Amino acid sequence: MGSVTDVAMEKGTLAQRKPTVVFVLGGPGSGKGTQCDKIVQHFGFTHISTGDLLRDEIRSGSENGTMIQRMMKEGKMVPPELTIKLLQKAMQECGNDKLLIDGFPRNEENRAAYEAVIKIEPKLVLFLDCSEEEMERRLLNRNQGREDDNIETIRKRFKVFKESTLPVIEYYNSKGKVRKIDAGKPSDEVFEDIKFFFTSTCGNIKHSCCVIL
Ligand code: UDP
Ligand code: MG
Repeated sequence: MGSVTDVAMEKGTLAQRKPTVVFVLGGPGSGKGTQCDKIVQHFGFTHISTGDLLRDEIRSGSENGTMIQRMMKEGKMVPPELTIKLLQKAMQECGNDKLLIDGFPRNEENRAAYEAVIKIEPKLVLFLDCSEEEMERRLLNRNQGREDDNIETIRKRFKVFKESTLPVIEYYNSKGKVRKIDAGKPSDEVFEDIKFFFTSTCGNIKHSCCVIL
C-alpha cells in the first residue's frame, strides 16, 4: 500500500476531489455501524469507522498498536494525531466521492485536527440519539468479543460521550448540520427515519446535490 503522498498523486488530493462527507455520531451502542451498513447499501456511500481503523492498527502489530489497545480498553480517546493520520489515509485511498465517517469526531481535539488537516466540511451530521439503558443492553448482548464491551469500560465510554462528544454535536447543531434520529427503536425503523433525511433534505444525496449547507 502506498503512502498518503503516492495515493494523492494517483487519485488527486482530497481537497481537489472534495468528497461529500457525512459524520455519524452517537453513544456507544447507538447503532452507528448497523445504520452505516444500511446507508452504504442504499445510498452508495463508503463507510469509514475510526474505531475500526484503530482496531486494524492494533491487529497490524504496528508500534502504536499496544498504546491504542490500552487506550481503547480503558475507554479513552486515542491521541488525535494518530487517528487523523489513519482517517486521512483511508479517505485518500477510497475512490468514492461519498464518505460516511462513523464515530468521529468525538471530541473537540479531534474536530480541530480534522479541520486543520482534512479541511472538508461535513454536509451533514447524523446524531443517533439513544438512552443509556438501551445502549448498555445492546453492548452487553452483542458478543463481538470486544475488550471494551464490559460494564466498567462501557460506563467510561458513556462519560466520554456525554462530556466530550455532545459538545461536538452541539457545535455542528449551531451550524444547522445535525439531523437527530431516535435510535432507540428497532434498526429498520431507525433506518426509515434516516432515509427520510437523506432523501427529503438532500433531494437525492446520491448525486451530491445536497443544498443544506
Ligand atoms: N476511538 C478513538 N477515537 C476515535 C474512534 C474510536 O479514540 O475516533 C477509540 C476510543 O477508545 C473508543 C474506542 O476506540 O472508546 C471504540 O470506538 P468505536 O467507535 O469502535 O465504538 P463505540 O464506542 O462507538 O461503540
Ligand atoms: Mg462502532
